[in-house]
Amino acid sequence: MPLLAELEALPRTGCLPTARRETKLRSLMEKVVIIGSGCAGLTAALYTARANLRPVVLTGRQPGGLLTTTTVVENYPGFPDGIDGYELMVRLQKQAERFGAQVRFGSVEAVDLSRQPFALTVDGEPLAAETIIIATGASHRHLGLESEHKLENKGVTYCATCDGALPPFRNQPLVVVGGGDSACEEALYLTRFGSIVYLVHRRDTLRASKIMAGRALAHAKIKPVWGSVVTEVLGLEQDKVTGVRLKNVKTGTATALDCAGLFIAIGLIPNTHLFKGVIEMDETGYIIPREGTATNVRGVFAAGDCVDKVYRQAVTAAGLGCAAAIEAERYLAAKNE
Ligand code: NAP
Repeated sequence: MPLLAELEALPRTGCLPTARRETKLRSLMEKVVIIGSGCAGLTAALYTARANLRPVVLTGRQPGGLLTTTTVVENYPGFPDGIDGYELMVRLQKQAERFGAQVRFGSVEAVDLSRQPFALTVDGEPLAAETIIIATGASHRHLGLESEHKLENKGVTYCATCDGALPPFRNQPLVVVGGGDSACEEALYLTRFGSIVYLVHRRDTLRASKIMAGRALAHAKIKPVWGSVVTEVLGLEQDKVTGVRLKNVKTGTATALDCAGLFIAIGLIPNTHLFKGVIEMDETGYIIPREGTATNVRGVFAAGDCVDKVYRQAVTAAGLGCAAAIEAERYLAAKNE
């Protein structure tokens, strides 16, 4: 019987079985478990693997993280011609695996950080860890409209790279919502497919970096719609997006815009709900580190987009992943001295 199955088969109550379970758990203990396989997680894996700690990386439902859904990454150092986001993450995983990182497809359902070793449940299976690096990243923010929810995957999407080339969007008017780098990137990508791309933003200046904003606004196919918010996604009766209802935030005037696709790019929310009430975080869910990447729980470190709401770049996530790995390694060395 495989070890994990054997552990599961042990009764959970009673003095002797519980003690046996603890002993078994210790025998299954990993030195480092990294939750998340984006830039932060895989960089932490690379560093802890090179420190001979044989880290386990739990991929989550999106192996490689959000970067796998982007097209060309132009600002990651070392790639003068840019690199495809998916390819970058595949290379990073291979690099970590070369030194002994164990990348496992799986999502963490529960964690118990109240005792050592820390206990995790991964797709129903137990896992024990001496240290944990939280690198769970962030997910796309939603507008929060009922019609948005009902028409998700029926014309409402959060990823132009994943869905932009689909037949319903070809040669059709498309709407992108947002004013940041993501919205500009999505809009530019969609110009390959749509007849026109409306960039709907709630203010009248873009938040995006100058280079991205300049490119988007200079593109003949991109038409900005300033000072406007989407109040409803139209097409419920047809069971597909046919347009959006907009409201001008200054005048309150309502208008409708025909479109076949609504691409929402209004930022990110950190994936930290699993640690709520245990790991210190701010009111928006970003983890607040105590010192460096250390959290309020000794032996638990955090890195990447689940911590950083200021820079949120691939390279800063990688940097934080490196820092978390070094701190985890030092923590283990001090603990086992
Ligand atoms: P972001 O920079 O936080 O921008 C979010 C945008 O959505 C803002 O313009 C915001 O409006 C708008 N917004 C937020 N909530 C909204 C709502 N409920 N309704 C309507 N609009 C709303 O997020 P991001 O563009 O996803 O970028 C995240 C990070 O990744 C940034 O640090 C960015 O630089 C980075 N990134 C970089 C690249 C690149 O370098 N190529 C590409 C993508 C992302 P306000 O402006 O009014 O706040």
